[in-house]
This record gives sequence, C-alpha cells and structure tokens, in this order.
Amino acid sequence: MKTKLTTLILALSAGLALAHEGIELGPNKGRILEFSTNESMHGEVTDKDGKLHIVLLDKDKKPVKAEAQSLTATAGTRQAPVKLEVAKDESGFTIPVPKEGEWLIMQYKETESGKAITARLHYDTGKCAPCGNPEWRCACGEKEKK
Ligand SMILES: [Zn+2]
Repeated sequence: MKTKLTTLILALSAGLALAHEGIELGPNKGRILEFSTNESMHGEVTDKDGKLHIVLLDKDKKPVKAEAQSLTATAGTRQAPVKLEVAKDESGFTIPVPKEGEWLIMQYKETESGKAITARLHYDTGKCAPCGNPEWRCACGEKEKK
C-alpha cells in the first residue's frame, strides 16, 4: 500500500511538470478526467463549435446519463478566476472553451448532497506534431512512457 501511495504522489508531481503526461483518451477521442476517487466515474471532454462537451462514463467507459449529477467550471487565472456557464442535458455538460493556456477547474458531484470531486485540465491548444491533436487531448506522452 505504501509503495502504491508513493507511486501516486510521484505521478501527480510529474503531471504538474509535464503538461501532457498521464493523459488518457476516451471512446470519443476526448480527454478523460477522473470524476470519482475509485475510477467508477469519468468525464470525457471533447471540443465542438467553440464549446467543450463533457460526457459521463462509468468504470468500463460506457456512457452514463446525466441526471442528478452536477458540474461547475472555473477558468481564468488564480488572481481572477472566472466562473463558466455550464449547460446540462441528458448527454452531459457543455461549457464555453477557456482561454488558451488557462487551467479549467471542474467540480463534479454525483448527487446534490454528494462530495465534490475536483478535476483539472490545462487548456493548451498547441498542436502536437506526432498525433495532430491539441496538447490538452494528446496522449503521446503516455505512449512514450510505456
Ligand atoms: Zn500527441
């Protein structure tokens, strides 16, 4: 257990240093975010028409209907955070794209009274040459490591 925790801490600190390390892509080629503490719920972020769309995926990455779940989104800077408007329908959540280079901070709740899970995404739109994807949904770093 101790080893596992150390690995996790190392992975977390490495993730801060290297923007696209540990990025996982989902069934829609979107960026996978952890929306639980035990891999039972994920968000998959894709971009379309100037918006980010977030669908919910279960532990097997199968789509989950958005019902009681809720999401808040904040971008901007640490000094001047900006709350983004979140639209919700059965298929998930839609938010405006953050500005280039900003961190998108999302708080996901399974139910109204549930515990908020925080997920972060560095919105780096620089294009990755090997895969052609913007850096925020490029998983090349992950492949190199394996
Ligand atoms: Zn890439």
